[in-house]
Amino acid sequence: MSADHPFDPSALGFETLAVRAQHPVSAEREHSVPLYLTSSFRFDDAEHARALFAEEVTGNVYSRYASPNTDEFVHKLCLLEAGAEAVREGRVDGIATASGMSAVFTAIAARVSSGDHVLASRALFGSTHQIFTRILPKWGVSHDYADVGDPSSWERLVRPSTRLIFVETPSNPGLELLDLAWLAQFANVRGIPLVVDNCFATPYLQRPLALGATVVVHSATKYIDGQGRVLGGAIVGARDYLADCRFFARHTGPALSAFNAWLLSKSLETLAVRMDRHCSNALALAQHFEGHTALESVRYPFLPSHPQHDLARRQMTQGGGIVVLNLRGGLDAGRRALDRLRLCSHSANLGDTRTIVTHPASTTHSKLSPAERAAVGIGDGLLRVSVGLEQVQDIIADLEQALA
Ligand SMILES: *Cc1c(COP(=O)(O)O)cnc(C)c1O
Repeated sequence: MSADHPFDPSALGFETLAVRAQHPVSAEREHSVPLYLTSSFRFDDAEHARALFAEEVTGNVYSRYASPNTDEFVHKLCLLEAGAEAVREGRVDGIATASGMSAVFTAIAARVSSGDHVLASRALFGSTHQIFTRILPKWGVSHDYADVGDPSSWERLVRPSTRLIFVETPSNPGLELLDLAWLAQFANVRGIPLVVDNCFATPYLQRPLALGATVVVHSATKYIDGQGRVLGGAIVGARDYLADCRFFARHTGPALSAFNAWLLSKSLETLAVRMDRHCSNALALAQHFEGHTALESVRYPFLPSHPQHDLARRQMTQGGGIVVLNLRGGLDAGRRALDRLRLCSHSANLGDTRTIVTHPASTTHSKLSPAERAAVGIGDGLLRVSVGLEQVQDIIADLEQALA
């Protein structure tokens, strides 16, 4: 990691670190960090090469391991997720991966062996659910899903062989929250690492490591890029846990490309201002549609009607950029509304500058049975609105005419 800045990062705020934590300036004296398109790096001499491979010194070797661009991206994300003090003291480390799913998979597969058990929250991103139900069982790793709102279910399902706890909060797309401070305490007293997918909140709204989580995983594809351009992922957290992830990723190869890392690092510079606007637009939209005649309900963490509103206020600084609209009239109503959209996009991504509306029951969560969907609060008429950065009145007007 490149940390030789002329300023003391521990004295600086989130926005300043996001803008100013840069790779050291090269001999060219560039102001904006360049893109390093090189698959490998030269060694000074035979001794230098030996020491690098023996991991006695750090430095660039080969872009499957790391590159100046992935280093900068990860270093900055470590500062934002864990704080400058944890970075200076060497308590946290991070790696970048090619996608959110490669981050999720690496964070799990690097730590489990045949016979191990994983405990997870029930409401998970669709592909994460597929890893637990269809992929890990091939290697003899079992799992259980605990109920988010029922502490006794965690007590009941944890086993001596539980090697990690994996959760998502707020969940996709149901916007269920999990009390991270409570769960971290539950995990820590049992010596079980807690892995949190922090994709929906980003470190700007929620810092799981400060609440006691061991590791945070990200789909950087979403708010971290924020402009719907690239895939990327990252794992950030406790140094010993990350050592296993780094080993696994080095040798299995889910490396983030230098180009994507370069973009993502620059995207982090605007994360705070983008998230402020995503959140204020989302809150305005949620308030506008609450009580609408075409809707059964509206769900947004910072609406007082959200069942976990108090927890949301405690755990997050703002409610995030996702609003859930539950349409009366189920599947047909959902599909009709989608086909009437003029401004908002019908697409499967989220966290973009452009407002995106998704119908999980027919797309991202279609592989779940109706019963499994119902168990995580995904009704047939549920629309997930990833509220973008357009003028909020225009977004509201488009959804109004689509629901009319
Ligand atoms: C999108 C997403 C992922 C997967 O990320 P990719 O970059 O698409 O691989 C994982 N978790 C959550 C919560 C997501 O929204």
